[in-house]
Amino acid sequence: MKYVLVTGGVVSGLGKGVTASSIGLILKACGLRVTSIKIDPYLNTDAGTMSPFEHGEVFVLDDGGEVDLDLGNYERFLDITLTRDNNITTGKIYQSVIDKERKGDYLGQTVQVVPHVTDAIQEWIERVAIIPVDGEEGPADVCVIELGGTIGDIESMPFIEALGQFSYRVGAGNFCLVHVSLVPVLSVVGEQKTKPTQHSVRGLRSLGLTPNILACRSTTELDGNVKEKLSRFCHVPLENIITLYDVTNIWRVPLLLQDQKAHEAILKSLNFKGYALKPVLGEWTSRADLCDMLHDPVRIAMVGKYTGLKDSYLSVLKALLHASVACYRKLCVDWVPASDLEDAAKKENPNAYKSAWNLLKGADAVLVPGGFGDRGVEGKILAAKYARENRIPYLGICLGMQISVIEFARSVLGLQDANSTEFDPNTQNPCVIFMPEGSKTHMGGTMRLGSRRTYFQGMSSKSAKLYGNRSFIDERHRHRYEVNPDMVPRLEEAGLSFAGKDETGCRMEIVELPSHPYFVGVQFHPEFKSRPGKPSALFLGLVAAACSQLDAVLKKCTTKTCKLSNGTTSAHYENAPKVANGSLDSIYYNGNGLHV
Ligand code: GLN
Repeated sequence: MKYVLVTGGVVSGLGKGVTASSIGLILKACGLRVTSIKIDPYLNTDAGTMSPFEHGEVFVLDDGGEVDLDLGNYERFLDITLTRDNNITTGKIYQSVIDKERKGDYLGQTVQVVPHVTDAIQEWIERVAIIPVDGEEGPADVCVIELGGTIGDIESMPFIEALGQFSYRVGAGNFCLVHVSLVPVLSVVGEQKTKPTQHSVRGLRSLGLTPNILACRSTTELDGNVKEKLSRFCHVPLENIITLYDVTNIWRVPLLLQDQKAHEAILKSLNFKGYALKPVLGEWTSRADLCDMLHDPVRIAMVGKYTGLKDSYLSVLKALLHASVACYRKLCVDWVPASDLEDAAKKENPNAYKSAWNLLKGADAVLVPGGFGDRGVEGKILAAKYARENRIPYLGICLGMQISVIEFARSVLGLQDANSTEFDPNTQNPCVIFMPEGSKTHMGGTMRLGSRRTYFQGMSSKSAKLYGNRSFIDERHRHRYEVNPDMVPRLEEAGLSFAGKDETGCRMEIVELPSHPYFVGVQFHPEFKSRPGKPSALFLGLVAAACSQLDAVLKKCTTKTCKLSNGTTSAHYENAPKVANGSLDSIYYNGNGLHV
């Protein structure tokens, strides 16, 4: 096993996660098997109790692990399935050390950060690195370890110390350190400044770590003399200094690394011989090119809590992007703050009310993502009603599914106070109820979490077709409440169809309105398993319905053998046109164009 450690310097938010994923991808494209570990130096045991509006979305794994969103990047880029232990936190490490201490395993020693915590970190890395994550047997060849935060943070000190010891232990040739840094350009002089990088490399060295490769974020390519200066002051060979300049879309980052031969530098420092020096990245290149070429928009209204942090719904946005590219459309996401759709907003903030409704009415499709707490719930219900009544394609995820059932019960069954007991514990018509599997008093890790099986109830539903007519699918969950099974017969009689259920038949997993062009709600989160080349079936259905391609997609889904994220069938990249280099819009790094 060889290790690539990715650290960050100068400022946070440099795209370290994307860089680390891209390094993994390019090594994979050279023929290596790759796994990854993300270290988050915060004290929380996991991301499950952290607000997505502060910290970005909580990513959910097959095993139910609630982890940092960077693990989503790794899964999407490397097409792997990680475990909860692939996300290390200070909380987890200390918990394991304290558990050991309580058991008496330290035999009377004084338990200290060095060596006990640092040993625990190294043991954790070595144990997790050998878990196969790509469906093959045996350990991977390389483990990419990303250290969260910035060099110099108090929280990361034990990890830095542990990794310093670790690099020494595994030895040169088995450990490659990539330091991601910033080279700012001062507008006054227009000069690329190296000092911040010099300082952060000095900081790294003083903590016992020596960078093999510098990955410098900058707006443009680094000038030759700037690279030379960095090489001299940071003691890094010239060919090991890579510029990560702003690119038009995220899929270009691995190509940027390839162009600058970053893989050769990494393979050399890891003493890998006999691996392809020309990575196979044809599919990525055409996808990145295609993405830049798309101009026909598909407008999706995202009705949720809007706080300005787009990372709160990162996987949903990625899944929409995967589906839009598969339909050759440029994704335009319109953020509709759910509470602005409510009647109360009409009086309190008439402008916001008007603009929210205008956005909703201008959209080709409506998506209500998952959520917790009652803020904006009535607005989400209004959005579902609007989509149902006006035959606008609708996808409701988790809470988005629950509110669509509440809306149907209110509008069609005439049950005015129908609600979820999460929002109204005393409702006479509880459509959505608390599930005994979870706990109300302990918030951490007590939900119905991770991969669970959904069985299709017949093959006539759109969702069954989109999933390639399979009898069951496995998708990831994160919820406490579910549709009340006692109300299902009445809802079904009125025209709502529960197209997918769990193995007991008591938990409603997929709801559909057969009489509607595309109205689907799911208790699970299909976004977590969407991949760039394999869009999630239900997102593909939504986007296809939004741009009048659903019939064609449904036909292809049941006849073609192009893989979807769930191993089902669909139509996409095999038909992607080869396009010339060049960009019309920008997506990721400079924030224009696509809101991703
Ligand atoms: N709050 C709802 C529940 O706990 C929905 C959760 C979600 O959307 N992830 O069931």
